[in-house]
Amino acid sequence: MLITNIGELTTNVPSGEDRLGTVTDAAVLIQGERIAWVGPAAEAPAHTDVMDAGGRAVIPGFVDSHAHLVFAGDRADEFEARMSGVPYAAGGIRRTVAATRAASDDALRRNLRRLVDECARQGTTTIEVKTGYGLTVHDEARAARLAAEVTPEVTFLGAHVVPAEYAEARDDYLDLVTGPMLHAVAPHAKYIDVFCETGAFSPEEARRVLAAGIEHGLVPRMHGNQLGPGEGVQVAVQMGAASVDHCTYLSDDDVAALAGSETVATLLPGVEFSTRSPYPDARRLIDAGATVAIASDCNPGSCFTSSMPLMVALAVREMRMTPSEAVWAATAGGARALRRDDIGAIAPGMRADLVVLDAPTRVHLAYRPGVPLIDSVYKDGVPVA
Ligand SMILES: [Zn+2]
Repeated sequence: MLITNIGELTTNVPSGEDRLGTVTDAAVLIQGERIAWVGPAAEAPAHTDVMDAGGRAVIPGFVDSHAHLVFAGDRADEFEARMSGVPYAAGGIRRTVAATRAASDDALRRNLRRLVDECARQGTTTIEVKTGYGLTVHDEARAARLAAEVTPEVTFLGAHVVPAEYAEARDDYLDLVTGPMLHAVAPHAKYIDVFCETGAFSPEEARRVLAAGIEHGLVPRMHGNQLGPGEGVQVAVQMGAASVDHCTYLSDDDVAALAGSETVATLLPGVEFSTRSPYPDARRLIDAGATVAIASDCNPGSCFTSSMPLMVALAVREMRMTPSEAVWAATAGGARALRRDDIGAIAPGMRADLVVLDAPTRVHLAYRPGVPLIDSVYKDGVPVA
């Protein structure tokens, strides 16, 4: 299929000063699951199956590199309480754990698929899904197995929080996470994650969890520096993590460590929005040379939105990113955070994952916040929304 008459095409293939490789009056040829040709519409190869984009903008599909979608239950009451002045604490996770353990496979699968479809309709073509609401060997393995049905980007987050039944025996829980639980989950997962934060896991515990995952062939990632300053970023960088996510409270040393590493700083502005908290400063990271991704962190507690267009708008308005930087971070940045080199850009040989916007330029994603601007979505060359 040839998509032609694209008013503005964002390729993410750098061209001179333009990191987003913008082509105006463009066309894209899709063959099977892959992109076959990209260039000016006037030079496009002849093709019988033509889609006229009518001057609309086309961008790579969003790569949402951080989401918690295997869960049951609803915490709208907690959100309402928080908006009425009760501060956020990590303890609310335990409520979702109880509801998730009690749910059937089918109930979890239905909720997961509903959310993945919701993401697709908003332009997300790749999504990472974490475990972390089971916290038993059986329930974590089940979450990973269900997640693997909908995405190859599955993360083991047994070290989300110490479950209530281990409150007095956290070392025993760490033995479980780094032993039998890891054994049961690893066949279904690509990554291992840990919530390194006061009230969750210490830097030493985080190191132990990530090292065990690496030994089992998993790629490390981390929830770090969300609620206050700490050693999370330093541990993540030292362990070669693909990304450290949140990065709300960073020291100058943290920023320098990220800038000097392959570890992506993944910012999750939906969390700050939904918890009425101060946003991280993306400008500081970008100016230092760090690679920045933005992701939804969609989860039932601290941020129940799956909207990557909203993340782009928040990144621009609240984190001092330019519209182009935010679109890059939500596409190519997410691909870097997942260590994928076949998504996040529109170029020959890449997977045919792209979004036609109902807008003339990508700037509209931030310029028109909250407006449904997704015209159509292709994943592996197939329309999914
Ligand atoms: Zn998260």
